[in-house]
Amino acid sequence: MVDDFHDVMALAIEGSGTGIWDRDVIAGTIRYSAGWAEILGYARDEISARVEDSYSRVHPDDLAYVQATLQDHFDGRTSVYEVEHRLRCKDGNYKWVLSRGMVISRDERGRALRMVGTTADITSTHLMSERLRQTTDLVANLTNKIPGLIFESRRAPDGAARMTYVSSGIGEIFGLTAEDVAISTAAIHDRIHPDDRAMYHASLDASQRDLVSWQCIFRVDLPVRGLCWRQIDARPARLPDGDTLWHGLVTDVTERMEMEQQLHDLARLDHLSGLANRRAFLERMEKTWSALVQERHERVAVMMIDVDHFKSINDRYGHAAGDEVIRHVAAIMCSVLRSNDMTGRMGGEEFAVCLPNLGMEEAGRIGDRLRAEIADTQAWFEDIAISLTVSIGIAPMLPTDRNGEQVLARADKALYAAKQAGRNRLAFAENAD
Ligand code: GH3
Ligand code: MG
Ligand code: MG
Repeated sequence: MVDDFHDVMALAIEGSGTGIWDRDVIAGTIRYSAGWAEILGYARDEISARVEDSYSRVHPDDLAYVQATLQDHFDGRTSVYEVEHRLRCKDGNYKWVLSRGMVISRDERGRALRMVGTTADITSTHLMSERLRQTTDLVANLTNKIPGLIFESRRAPDGAARMTYVSSGIGEIFGLTAEDVAISTAAIHDRIHPDDRAMYHASLDASQRDLVSWQCIFRVDLPVRGLCWRQIDARPARLPDGDTLWHGLVTDVTERMEMEQQLHDLARLDHLSGLANRRAFLERMEKTWSALVQERHERVAVMMIDVDHFKSINDRYGHAAGDEVIRHVAAIMCSVLRSNDMTGRMGGEEFAVCLPNLGMEEAGRIGDRLRAEIADTQAWFEDIAISLTVSIGIAPMLPTDRNGEQVLARADKALYAAKQAGRNRLAFAENAD
């Protein structure tokens, strides 16, 4: 009955593609089941019973490890013997097998007498896990070598978020480690420039709510590098549990943003004088006028400055000398005016100044200083000293104006009056307060 049961068990094991062996430790022999021989492509009678022959089939690289594992079990350091290794088949190829066994009888001194076990062919699982490892290595290599940070992030409906995968770029992009963001993305939030946090979260919320791409350009303040620009591009997907999962890329766009800023600044600058150009000056006037309307400025004075008889300077010394005169006037304007006074070159030899929080009288004093300074100094072109004067018209910006520009017409009119009155002087608009 018992033997029957064992026979049935052995058959069941054999049927599952697993071989059985039974080792007589003292005699140094092993009996193998037919299924065991079959795994290696042998008929049962082709396998010798000698234990040395069994070792000769183990892959040379695995032999020491297999024997040490076996010894551990013989010596009672492990309760079962279990080892993965390669075995040579009849055709000379190797198969990966899982050998498991147990000493089932020992002598009175504890020495192993008999051991039984199974051998299972795990070549295909081994191959699969090897392929999986290669794929994982490939993904890690790819993501770590692409500049920037490749990530997978997950966010719950309540906003709790964490990074489920980050490439090594997390260090360069945020100055953080994978562990820093594995449980929560709070560390990233802390790196974002305070002025950009609201915008960052608004774009993330919109992506989560509407499942639209998450795109965002923002500044980060990093421990060593300081302020830099980052761009996120990620695609969201809703998970069955309601969480949202993003796959995306964060790149360093500092250089591009700085270049754009420079281009932007350049487009607003007058190249000859270094002052704001007409467009930029008008934009700033518009903002100043809004502030005046909203009573953030009490009053604003505006000055128009025009070089007297500039045409004759050009005619006498040449166009290049005229350019030098323009630079000279701009330099004096910068030295006389305060840094938050806005200056601009409106075209030709015409300049404008916008003076927030100044009344007509104070603006007149500044204008006269400017006029006197220009009249008292000379512009140098090569070794020629050129004397020049300017006329100035001053008008107050009014909250009742249609826009920020309207004051310029009044200042221009005052300027015309100064020219009419003999030049090298200053005139106020008629409706000046
Ligand atoms: P007024 O005292 O009435 O202002 O006389 P004006 O000669 O200064 O005025 P007018 O408008 O007749 O002449 C301006 C001249 O400025 C004409 C133009 O050729 C010259 N001009 C305009 N832009 C530039 C420039 O960028 N460089 C130089 N060198 N000359 C310029
Ligand atoms: Mg002019
Ligand atoms: Mg002129």
